[in-house]
Amino acid sequence: MSGHGTPWSDGHTASRPRLHGVRRFDVAVIGAGLTGLSAALELLELDPERRVAVVEADQVAAGASGRGTGLLGPRLGPALTVARRRFGDDVARGAYLWSATAVRHVLDLVERHQISCDLTPGGQLIVAPDEEAALAQQREADAARVLGLPVSLVERDALPSVAAGYLSGLRYAPAATLDPAALTAQLARIGEQRGLTIFERSPVRGIRRGLLTTVSTDDGEIVADHVVVAVNAYGAALRAPAGVVGVRVQAGVTEKLPKAAAKALEGLRTEPLIEHGELAPYFRLTPDGRLIVGGGAVRRGAFGSMAPAPGRLRAAARQLSPALAGVEIESTWAGPVGMTLDGLPAVGHHPDDPQLYHAGGCNGHGLAISAYHGAFVARWIVNGDKDHLSFALPWVRPKAPWVPRGRLVDHALDRYLAHLTTAAGRPRSSDLGPTGRPVGRSAHA
Ligand SMILES: Cc1cc2nc3c(=O)[nH]c(=O)nc-3n(C[C@H](O)[C@H](O)[C@H](O)COP(=O)(O)OP(=O)(O)OC[C@H]3O[C@@H](n4cnc5c(N)ncnc54)[C@H](O)[C@@H]3O)c2cc1C
Repeated sequence: MSGHGTPWSDGHTASRPRLHGVRRFDVAVIGAGLTGLSAALELLELDPERRVAVVEADQVAAGASGRGTGLLGPRLGPALTVARRRFGDDVARGAYLWSATAVRHVLDLVERHQISCDLTPGGQLIVAPDEEAALAQQREADAARVLGLPVSLVERDALPSVAAGYLSGLRYAPAATLDPAALTAQLARIGEQRGLTIFERSPVRGIRRGLLTTVSTDDGEIVADHVVVAVNAYGAALRAPAGVVGVRVQAGVTEKLPKAAAKALEGLRTEPLIEHGELAPYFRLTPDGRLIVGGGAVRRGAFGSMAPAPGRLRAAARQLSPALAGVEIESTWAGPVGMTLDGLPAVGHHPDDPQLYHAGGCNGHGLAISAYHGAFVARWIVNGDKDHLSFALPWVRPKAPWVPRGRLVDHALDRYLAHLTTAAGRPRSSDLGPTGRPVGRSAHA
């Protein structure tokens, strides 16, 4: 039997007040995830006198930030080979460096505020399960070399034992793993210690622009000089930033691993494994010795139920290592990520309203980037747009590329996502043993 809940859900329920009446703040942030709370905290660090409020529909960390799998690592947007072709070398390099800065930003944040979130520094290893993926990795490593980026190709023989059976790997560092819900919850608490006001259970229904901007909920309004929309995958309701589409993804966590399995997978504590490919599985070990498995099923939309598929996650785990043969997935969960058509996020302000900011669309890879975007928007509000270099980057923009809407498009998207999900669950040719049945990866090292 599998339950629903992240390994870090602590049964916490919303305890902060709802927004009532009309309130005046300098900055109103909509959404209490990593983006919104990081923006709020940075605003208060830059200017402790500033009156800042966060308005949250549900409770702190209710969205993706409380349901992530905790892989903090570089990479932003499409693969470097694609990014070079699509955007040119400067942007491809800039995107990677931006993401590396985002990782450092989170590491600094955790250190500076002594945030207790199980931060485990290390790297990330993306592994190739078949020849096609191995070729793609070779090309990616070449692109990284041309761009002068620190991405190294790991040949088959040099892969760590936990990745035996894969054909090659790409190693990214610095990276880390952490408990994203703890990070988010503590950003909220640290913000409150500095004067931040957080309203929970207060879904924003509308934003009225004028000389000042008014954010309205069912029972109240905030009038503010600046508003930051940090709702990511839930943005369609507020129409900002345009072009960020919500989809739900899943993850699961095993029971506590038996000693032998924990030993066999020890390497995943400091270096999670991410299989190359759309919706491909990824794995990491928690400090208390459980395996987190992500990947697989996806549904359209940020809202709505999604029965995660523990069978898929279990199969992915068992394929990773025979040591996981009897190990059960104890709990599964799903959460919303914000996708864009070109794979780049969108951080900036409304085309007609420089007081209305937004950040989102990290395409499922936003643990570091979301926190960094929050801080970036805060600095923009406080310092103005002085950083011309950043403002030339294509994801610093009023909106992401337009995504067509309507029933036909939704239907096509549903079919595409179903196809991806099915393909992700199918064993690759290299996973099939002589009888045509899937075998564990380390069995064919
Ligand atoms: C299962 C899963 C695994 C993931 N794993 C990783 C990973 O390992 N590494 C990685 O880099 N990224 C990962 N991500 C992505 C990462 O978690 C997100 O990119 C990041 O948390 C986004 O933060 P955010 O603050 O922009 O959005 P969210 O955390 O979703 O915050 C948005 C907030 O806005 C609130 N809101 C929405 N509408 C309104 C409204 N109208 N009024 C008020 N509030 C509103 C929501 O309730 C929510 O709290 C994962 C995501 C999921 C779902």
